[in-house]
Amino acid sequence: MRDINFLTENNAKPIWHPMAHPAEMRATPPKIIMKGDGVSVTDVDGRTVLDAVGGLWNVNLGYSCDPIKKAIAAQLDALPYYSGFRGTSTGPSIELAYELCDWFAPEGMVRAFFTSGGSDSVETALRLSRQYWKIRGQGDRTKFLALKKGYHGTHFGGASVNGNANFRRNYEPLLPGVFHTPAPWTYRNPFDETDPAKLAKLCAQAIEEEIAFQGADTIAAFIMEPVLGAGGVIVPHESFMPLVRAICDRHDILLIADEVVTGFGRTGAWSGSRLSGVKPDFMTIAKAITSGYFPLGATLIGAKVADVFEADKTSFGAIGHGYTYSCHPVGCAAGLAALAETKRLAVNENAAARGVELGKALEALKAKHALVGDVRYQGLMAALELVSDRAAKKPADKKTLATVAEAAYAAGVMLRVSGNTIILSPPLVISAADVAKIGEALDAGLAAA
Ligand code: PMP
Repeated sequence: MRDINFLTENNAKPIWHPMAHPAEMRATPPKIIMKGDGVSVTDVDGRTVLDAVGGLWNVNLGYSCDPIKKAIAAQLDALPYYSGFRGTSTGPSIELAYELCDWFAPEGMVRAFFTSGGSDSVETALRLSRQYWKIRGQGDRTKFLALKKGYHGTHFGGASVNGNANFRRNYEPLLPGVFHTPAPWTYRNPFDETDPAKLAKLCAQAIEEEIAFQGADTIAAFIMEPVLGAGGVIVPHESFMPLVRAICDRHDILLIADEVVTGFGRTGAWSGSRLSGVKPDFMTIAKAITSGYFPLGATLIGAKVADVFEADKTSFGAIGHGYTYSCHPVGCAAGLAALAETKRLAVNENAAARGVELGKALEALKAKHALVGDVRYQGLMAALELVSDRAAKKPADKKTLATVAEAAYAAGVMLRVSGNTIILSPPLVISAADVAKIGEALDAGLAAA
């Protein structure tokens, strides 16, 4: 590798960074991360910080998980690649599909379709939803419903169901036939409702109204994150997802649970669907499936959908969809090792326990700093929404957020800023001392701003 001076000089020059303005990156180049160890990362200047972002909601097992590293190396030796397209298969993909359906997702998920990441998994679920209805002779069911503030990746399908203008405007026109209803977000919602249970009912009612308006027989699927992540960690009341499931059942609409963030223990349960006691028809997963050590995703398929495809006698049943890296043997070997560690360490239990501590720390920060308008958390996904005026809920500006993040970094903790919200999604293996450190760094950051 070239020397550090080369990296520093060329940072943000030959590379366009995702989710960033190229000119802004040139003016303020991103931090160059060189090493990871345990739950910390070290930058090019040799500064080591606790990674409260967990990579990008994905490094659930931290940076020193030897079993995953060894599994990747062993698989590279044995077989670095072979395709999973019709005609060939590989051992790790068969085994991982079995494990995912067997213990990770007993919520009626019976098949796995492998992808290269979360956006691919969402695209797969949307496409298979439409195909399902064609097989069933209801080809008019093509529309999708989704929540405002939801995030479902960056392919055209995913961008179309995304519920945040930031991810849509620059790429329009998007898929036609996609409609959004309000998210059950107590801090900001069109009903001015702050009671979570009442809000869940109002949001469910809005879905019912949209279905009546569109015609149920035109709708293929409803997609939602059990806890909305990138939209700012919006935690629906526990009644919400079961209400959505009941509505989907009543109108024979498929339910896609986008668990790219919520899967593998982040919410304190193995999945967000399990947290809500709901059986979706599709579950999209990625990120922590390999703890970020290799790009991999999967779309898990429920029994109702699988039965229709597998009994198909029409001309619509063959899957004309797939990626070169679907079933990647190295990715699946990484996934198998990550899954075994995830289970062995019961990281969901640690996420639940540390999540309670983190929540308490965030509530204390809200009580202390007027800048904190709202705090939201579930397991080890959390957000602080910063406002310049609490009564008016006026979002704090970019500079304020940057000041908080920089001061926290100086205090030894990496945070992630998204709009006027600070997002926390640390590795699920953090200790109580790590949680305390995150709280202290946030305190220092908020004080600096
Ligand atoms: N769905 C959700 C809920 C996500 O949070 C993300 C990524 N943050 C995606 C889909 C897209 O995943 P990827 O970035 O791996 O394509």
